[in-house]
Amino acid sequence: MPTIAEQAKALHERTVAVRRDLHRHPEVAFEEHRTMAVIVARLRELGLEPREGVGGTGVVAVFDTGRPGPTVLARADMDALPVAEEKSVEYRSTVPGKMHACGHDGHVAVLLSVAEIIIARAAQLAGRVVFVFQPAEEVVRGAQAMLADGALDGIAVDHVIGLHLSSNDPLGTVAVREGPAMAATDSFKLVVTGRGGHAAYPHACIDPIVAGAQLVMALQTLVSRETDPVDQSVLSITSFHGGTAYNIIPEEVELKGTLRTFDAATRTRLRARVLEVAEGTVKTLRCTLRSEWFEGTQAVVNDAASVARFRDVAARVVGEAGVRLQAPIMGGDDMALWLAQARGCYFFVGTNSGPDTAWAHHHSRFDVDERGLEIAVNLLASGVADLMSGD
Ligand SMILES: [Zn+2]
Ligand SMILES: [Zn+2]
Repeated sequence: MPTIAEQAKALHERTVAVRRDLHRHPEVAFEEHRTMAVIVARLRELGLEPREGVGGTGVVAVFDTGRPGPTVLARADMDALPVAEEKSVEYRSTVPGKMHACGHDGHVAVLLSVAEIIIARAAQLAGRVVFVFQPAEEVVRGAQAMLADGALDGIAVDHVIGLHLSSNDPLGTVAVREGPAMAATDSFKLVVTGRGGHAAYPHACIDPIVAGAQLVMALQTLVSRETDPVDQSVLSITSFHGGTAYNIIPEEVELKGTLRTFDAATRTRLRARVLEVAEGTVKTLRCTLRSEWFEGTQAVVNDAASVARFRDVAARVVGEAGVRLQAPIMGGDDMALWLAQARGCYFFVGTNSGPDTAWAHHHSRFDVDERGLEIAVNLLASGVADLMSGD
């Protein structure tokens, strides 16, 4: 039997071909129909019986070694972004205004190669793998949709594992962190209503712009004055709209913002305080408030023992020096919902080898050094195989 590294190498051309095919044909959240067809065809080729259309465009396939052992869930997200690609590479997007600018094309390609490797090694493994291909990560709705559609009905998961390619990390490195690794993401809308009128007669109006301005400033104290500085949180007001002319006080202004937290209790407390402070501030200035809260995903929390175990596996793949401590990320990922099913580990695989692959995720020039795909296949297959080699 070849080693996993040898299998990953042998499959590399195919991994790259799948990634480039998906890169040429990006599909955004819940529209991943072609992507789903590519996944389903390959899983069938591997002898699996995938369940398709889970939560819209998701795919679940179970591979059972036939020997009793743990059930390992491995997840890849599938969606692209509404970004117009500005690279001139041969495999650039053929769809105007859409692009795989986060690397999810690579995630799908990697997990398909991992499935092939695990199936080929079945005689040495015990238990089952649940391969999850998830739509709509970028809107943090896909995992929820799949779970609500019974993605795991009748499946008791023991371990969860997954990866994200990363232009923040050098090629040949892995970054992973135990405990909270990515933030919970919530967003909100606050509409401040006053009474509009002539700008020269403010006393006859109730000015929602001044109330809104005070509200922005008041909200700044929730993190800076009420939250433990070592408990990372951020609250940003990202939109402030109101008014039409130089000489009219408008009837209302609308503010939008986002709250990012790691600790579940902090998340609950800050949500309540945002609404309290908003109510109080606008009331002081004689305005009224309408609010809407959009609950995003919970924090990505890695189990310490799972991370320790994965670090040993990763050190064998990229060397001790290549395994780095991931800094907490204020961005969110609905991998959190899969990790909430069982203990697990979500890790970042470096794909940055220079200027062409250093662009930030979601940038119109984002790209990965495809050598990182082979490393990612090796890491994920090794991680899954390790979990299936006896507990
Ligand atoms: Zn993204
Ligand atoms: Zn992503």
